[in-house]
Amino acid sequence: MYLMENYKRLCVSFVKGKGVYLYDDKGKEYLDMLAGIAVNSLGYANPDLVDAICYQAKELIHISNLFENSWQEALAKELVDSFWTSGKVFFCNSGTEANEACIKLARRYFYEKGEKRYRIITFYNSFHGRTFGSMSATAQEKIQKGFEPLLEGFDYAELNNIDSVLKVLKKDTAGVLLEVIQGEGGIREAKEEFLKDLEELCKKEGLLLMIDEVQTGIGRTGKFYAYQHYPIKPDIITLAKGLGGGVPIGALLARDEVAKAFGPGSHGSTFGGNPLACRSALVVVQKVKGLLSHVERVGAYFKKRLQELGVGEVRGKGLMLGLELDKPCQEIVLKALEKGLVINCTSERVLRFVPPLIIEEEHVDRAIELLKETLF
Ligand SMILES: *Cc1c(COP(=O)(O)O)cnc(C)c1O
Repeated sequence: MYLMENYKRLCVSFVKGKGVYLYDDKGKEYLDMLAGIAVNSLGYANPDLVDAICYQAKELIHISNLFENSWQEALAKELVDSFWTSGKVFFCNSGTEANEACIKLARRYFYEKGEKRYRIITFYNSFHGRTFGSMSATAQEKIQKGFEPLLEGFDYAELNNIDSVLKVLKKDTAGVLLEVIQGEGGIREAKEEFLKDLEELCKKEGLLLMIDEVQTGIGRTGKFYAYQHYPIKPDIITLAKGLGGGVPIGALLARDEVAKAFGPGSHGSTFGGNPLACRSALVVVQKVKGLLSHVERVGAYFKKRLQELGVGEVRGKGLMLGLELDKPCQEIVLKALEKGLVINCTSERVLRFVPPLIIEEEHVDRAIELLKETLF
């Protein structure tokens, strides 16, 4: 009644969760294969995460970035420790903000170097967020429609087509921004050869290689960062979704030389990296680091079970999987929900599975059973 109608909401009202299960206001149980869109990495009501939130709420929720913040330092160290080289972190509150910061850092980096470069190459079917910079980076008409004029300075290429990148490369191109597995775009994977070519091009032309790890990062694909599946070394990565286990937080991580371009006063956020968010994320990150081989194992099992259904192509890595059907899948999502299975449909025909990282094989079996009942 009082809410804007920008979301098409399903008629279910969840009131609590435990582990990998959700419960609605009538007490019905649901197996969750969505995790709030790749957010609730530790599932629901994880005791350590809940404790961290409660303790920190009692001590100090927010202080502003005018002051030192040891929780930011501790979390940043964990993020950098898993990066391929030394780097520095900026904290914000969401994925789109992390990408805005990324776009600003890229521009500022070349400004500081005295080079007039500002254009960024992004890819069709990508998703980088809804604010102006990120939306302009998102090469999808349905996201941009009606909001023109967009932010200037983006050129679009085709994923896995290096020639299409060369075609839009200009003198003033600053870098390339991409997801190694497009999430909202339908779980579409970049090929290793393409990523290698892209990195080589970046080196040759002095471009920044920027990976949007908002959906793929923090253990989702079985590696801590998804770029680690490939022999590439990005200059910048962005994070959000799974980072806080449900507490809103985003981050920008850049190697030292690039990070330097954000000097005092150059960028900021009131809430970004507050003690509550950082302490929560610290719990998530430390736990996820111990879950990587679990994600890999259960993810491989899940993928195999989906392939055995024989209804369409299965794509993705770890616990970021998509099943492409030959027809729109929103109806299947609704039917599954009735049966007590929470899944999602993206890119029209792709069923997406991004469950809590703690799911076990038995949960996969149950999900497949419910999916069969729904599909056949
Ligand atoms: C969800 C998502 C975003 C946007 O994150 P918000 O927190 O919704 O702003 C950006 N990039 C990718 C790859 C995403 O999946």
